[in-house]
Amino acid sequence: MIDEAGNIPGPDDIKVKERARHIQSPEVKFTGDTVVQTAIRRCKEYSSSIFVGVDEIVVEPTSGEELGYVTTKDNRPEVIHLDLAKNVRDTEKRLDAYLKQRPENTSNLPKELRAEAASIVVANTIVHEIGHIKDELKGGEAPAKAEELKFKPYFEREWNKLLKKISDEIDKKDKASIKVEQQMEYAGLIKNCDLFFTLVRRSV
Ligand SMILES: [Zn+2]
Repeated sequence: MIDEAGNIPGPDDIKVKERARHIQSPEVKFTGDTVVQTAIRRCKEYSSSIFVGVDEIVVEPTSGEELGYVTTKDNRPEVIHLDLAKNVRDTEKRLDAYLKQRPENTSNLPKELRAEAASIVVANTIVHEIGHIKDELKGGEAPAKAEELKFKPYFEREWNKLLKKISDEIDKKDKASIKVEQQMEYAGLIKNCDLFFTLVRRSV
C-alpha cells in the first residue's frame, strides 16, 4: 500500500492510523477493574457517543487530590488517567454522609452496593475528564465542570436508585434482627413457663 505522498507506510504509521481511527470510534480501550468497566457502561448508557475522541482509560495513582487527569506530556492527550483508590475513597465519603442519617448499623453494607456506588462516582470522573479532552486540554476547569453539570441528572437518578437499594438492605437486616430478638424472647418465655410449671408441680 502506498499513501498519497507515494510513501510505503511502515508498521508505526499503520499503528498511528489505527489509533486515530480508534479515537474517532465510540469505543474506549480499557482492561481491568470491574468498577471501571461498569463506569464505562454507565457513560455509554448516558451518551452512546461519549467516547468519540477518547482513546483509552488507564488506572494509576494521581499525585495530588484529583480523581483523574489528562495530559499532553506523553503525547497521548486522548487518554484518561484514573486514580481508582481516590474515587473509591470519595464514594465512601458520599455514602457515609447518607448512612449517618440512618441510625442503624451500616458497617456491613454488601460489597456489591459499595462497588455500584463507586462505579457512579468513577463515571462522573470520566465525564469530567472528557470535558478536558473536548476542550483540547486548554487547562481551565469550566468545560469539565460543564460536562459534569450535563451528567448531573443521570448521576442523581442512579445515585438515588442506589440509596433506595441501600435503604431496603438496611430495612431487611433490621427485620431479620427483630425476628431473631422475638425468637429469643419467645425462647425465654418458654423457659420461664417451664420454671413456673416446675415450681407449681413442686408445690402441689
Ligand atoms: Zn478537571
